Amino acid sequence: MKPVLYIVIPCYNEEAVLPITAPTFKEKIESLASRGLISGESRVLFVNDGSKDKTWDIICDLAKSDPIFKGISLSRNKGHQNALLAGLNEASELCDISISIDCDGQDDINAMDKMVEEYLGGADVVYGVRANRETDTFFKRTTAQGFYKFMKLLGADVVYNHADYRLMSAKVLKELKNFKEVNLFLRGIVPLVGFKSTCVYYERKARLAGKGHYPLKRMISLALNGITSLSIRPIRIITALGFIVAVISLVGIIWSVAVTLMGKSVAGWASIVSITCFLGGIQLLSLGVIGEYIGKMYLEVKGRPRYIIEKRTEEEV
Ligand code: UDP
Ligand code: MG
Repeated sequence: MKPVLYIVIPCYNEEAVLPITAPTFKEKIESLASRGLISGESRVLFVNDGSKDKTWDIICDLAKSDPIFKGISLSRNKGHQNALLAGLNEASELCDISISIDCDGQDDINAMDKMVEEYLGGADVVYGVRANRETDTFFKRTTAQGFYKFMKLLGADVVYNHADYRLMSAKVLKELKNFKEVNLFLRGIVPLVGFKSTCVYYERKARLAGKGHYPLKRMISLALNGITSLSIRPIRIITALGFIVAVISLVGIIWSVAVTLMGKSVAGWASIVSITCFLGGIQLLSLGVIGEYIGKMYLEVKGRPRYIIEKRTEEEV
């Protein structure tokens, strides 16, 4: 039997771009089905992430016009990662393979053919990897690449230049459900699930319409979340730093006692002030990093639901 594919697409305030890209997803499914790679039961599943514009109305209209389109709507905006998870969980019972992609047309949907072929060849996870970043601004490119390198340095397993464009089999989706973290960073978790994986390369284009949702502030918060969700190395670095500073301080103490005993204690206040400031700075920074982890634990311990599905297109009349 041919595998049922679900294309899972989180959408937040995308009324400008959805009418342009939705038909392309439909065409892709139809062309994959006509090539005999996937089942005719394959679907496009939109997740409305609490949009404030007409996104949900557009999704409902699409669903009415063609059964290939389906949609779920979250009770409020929960962010890209949670919206994506909601869609993947919804799809996991219905599909054999899922492909997650953004709805802005930036990721080349023609890479899906290769992804499905890799799946049929035995891969359970296929990562879509950007072959270039020429359409990104210089700033976004350098910060994003710096982020991937930094993650590697901290020992977190992330696929370089891969965002959330990926194929996952139902087997992987089922295991993904056991990762219950509230601080969700899917591109760090999927490699932890394991199974046979491979990469497919594609060119990333500019957004077709509408505005991006990742200004600098959200990018920093995504990066910090990624690092602190996947690695405890920053805490270890603090411990090492504390040790080094302690050793240096010990040398300083011995030195100052020696100077005093020799009766040459005319040291100025500058050294005292600079040492105090330095230590104060390091302590505050360390507390901040440790606090970041405690804050994470606080959120995890509460174990609140990561999303709430308010309605489905099937229920709309
Ligand atoms: N998105 C979402 N919830 C949010 C923000 C974004 O579901 O709170 C969706 C958005 O509609 C898009 C995808 O996540 O399909 C990626 O967003 P965007 O294109 O703005 O990110 P970028 O390409 O700039 O990284
Ligand atoms: Mg985008």
